[in-house]
Amino acid sequence: MSAFIFNEVNFDDHEQVVFVSEPKSGLKGIIAVHNTSLGPAMGGCRMWNYANEAAAVNDVLRLSRGMTYKNAVAGLPIGGGKSVILGNPKTDKTPALFEALGEALERLGGRYITAEDIGTSPQDMAFVAHKTGFVAGLGASGDPSPFTALGCFVGLQAAVKHRLKRDSLEGLIVSVQGLGHVGYDYARRLHAAGAKLVVADVDTVALERAREEFGAQIVSVDAIYDVPADIYAPCALGATLNRDTLSRLQVQIVAGAANNQLATADVGDMLRQKGVLYAPDFVINAGGIIKVCYEYLNRPEADVEAHVHQISETLTEIFTCAERDERATSAVADEIARARFMR
Ligand code: NAD
Repeated sequence: MSAFIFNEVNFDDHEQVVFVSEPKSGLKGIIAVHNTSLGPAMGGCRMWNYANEAAAVNDVLRLSRGMTYKNAVAGLPIGGGKSVILGNPKTDKTPALFEALGEALERLGGRYITAEDIGTSPQDMAFVAHKTGFVAGLGASGDPSPFTALGCFVGLQAAVKHRLKRDSLEGLIVSVQGLGHVGYDYARRLHAAGAKLVVADVDTVALERAREEFGAQIVSVDAIYDVPADIYAPCALGATLNRDTLSRLQVQIVAGAANNQLATADVGDMLRQKGVLYAPDFVINAGGIIKVCYEYLNRPEADVEAHVHQISETLTEIFTCAERDERATSAVADEIARARFMR
């Protein structure tokens, strides 16, 4: 078993990987603590019907590592971790399942703090909280998505200033993929700032709303990659920046909320060579974790927005450094993160 983990492509010297099995509730989960040099590991709990156990291991290793990078670049006093529950979030959820997870977190003594993620909700986290205090994002002060959208908006402004030498978004065309919790709020801010929107989603209700509210032009989910625009804003799926889409995208900037936008690491450099300024996903989409972290640490809510606004300065530093050294922005962002947590 250990050979399998250590050879796993996403294993990156994780400090601790805990397999949790609790027969009474049926819980089968994995908790991965990637790095705690900046503070206790924080990251959500995903519930997913994984094809097999190896897929779950792969996912938790990848996601927990990503949280270390995201939290470090955001300047938060927390490390990176993640947990996954193997199961169907539509049919397999019970209070006992999440209470059992809470007991497992309690045994870790605060090395890992969980929160909601894909497949879990603030309600589920409330059951976790029956057994442990090491849980954040209980929804006490609402959905963090608007803060993610705010971070994307100020990040986009920084990208526009750097690449297009403009302070205003007036008249710029933004193609927005996904009008969910983050994408819709981001689109609202872009519209208010004078940008023109071209949008795609599988949800026709959200599309109609965007057409009415923002005068957005609607295109099919596949056609979004072919839209001539100034900015592409991926706010739905991961891995949408790949060899196929790169040959189709006609934009100068990529600035969106989706996690893991680069299908493979080398796509970061391919974007640079194509002349596209890429705002690294884990930098621009950190608004939500900033909000959750402040809530957990009882830091003043009034300071959250100012911290989210710092995403703009961080991105400007990354863009400037990448341009000077002729490197991918994604590589520079990784390096800044590593310099903070590899002390
Ligand atoms: P969400 O589920 O609310 O929204 C996703 C939207 O994408 C939905 O409207 C969905 O219908 C749409 N969609 C699904 N498939 C699509 C397709 N093929 N083409 C176009 N649209 C499609 O999710 P969210 O919370 O808004 O998060 C969006 C992305 O941002 C995700 O990748 C998420 O991991 C990432 N993210 C979110 C947060 C947050 O605070 N919510 C924080 C960091 C990163």
